[in-house]
Amino acid sequence: MKNKLIIILVGLAVLIPLSIKLLSSNILNQNDMKFELIELPYAADALAPVISKQTIEFHHGKHLQAYVNNLNNLIQGTNFETADLETIVKESEGSIFNNAGQVLNHNLYFLQFSPTGGGKPSGRLAQAIDAEWGSFENFQKEFEAGGMGVFGSGWVWLAADNAGKLSIVREGPAGNPVTKGLKPLLTFDVWEHAYYLDFQNRRADHLNSLWKIVDWKTVESRY
Ligand code: MN
Repeated sequence: MKNKLIIILVGLAVLIPLSIKLLSSNILNQNDMKFELIELPYAADALAPVISKQTIEFHHGKHLQAYVNNLNNLIQGTNFETADLETIVKESEGSIFNNAGQVLNHNLYFLQFSPTGGGKPSGRLAQAIDAEWGSFENFQKEFEAGGMGVFGSGWVWLAADNAGKLSIVREGPAGNPVTKGLKPLLTFDVWEHAYYLDFQNRRADHLNSLWKIVDWKTVESRY
């Protein structure tokens, strides 16, 4: 009886400090995490029916969160530990590139939408679109075709070079025009996770409906 009590007491004396140590190191690690999941500037159901609440919850809350977590874990102890996101995308390869690209791409993607979006761009961006594609409607057609032309998972981008000249750029799974020295302005995610719950296999219908929620003020501010 007495022996058992001693064993229990010794056990507690070891386990309690150990669990406190593990708990506090977990909390510390959380605080050390470099990249964080962006907060959406709209409610999860605010973009429906173009993008449903369920898609936002999975796409932002699960997919993007996983890319953020992976990236934070992968850069630990590497040269990228203190680098900013764009630098990591430009200079890394393999798993770090894939996860950093996804974080950068999704940040740009989610922040370019608004429940009061839609309509047309204005000012300098509108002029540059007209100069390149003749009209906004023609640009929309070309951009959607760009998205349809991505085989499998990827992204279609409106990008600008240093002189402000615009182009439509198709990219693979984690690609971003920054790797080509271009400025990313607008992007449609054509991974199936972006639209399958709402449009199933109808990628064209999804791309066409996205124009209703594009926040052109945000896109213009990137130009
Ligand atoms: Mn996505």
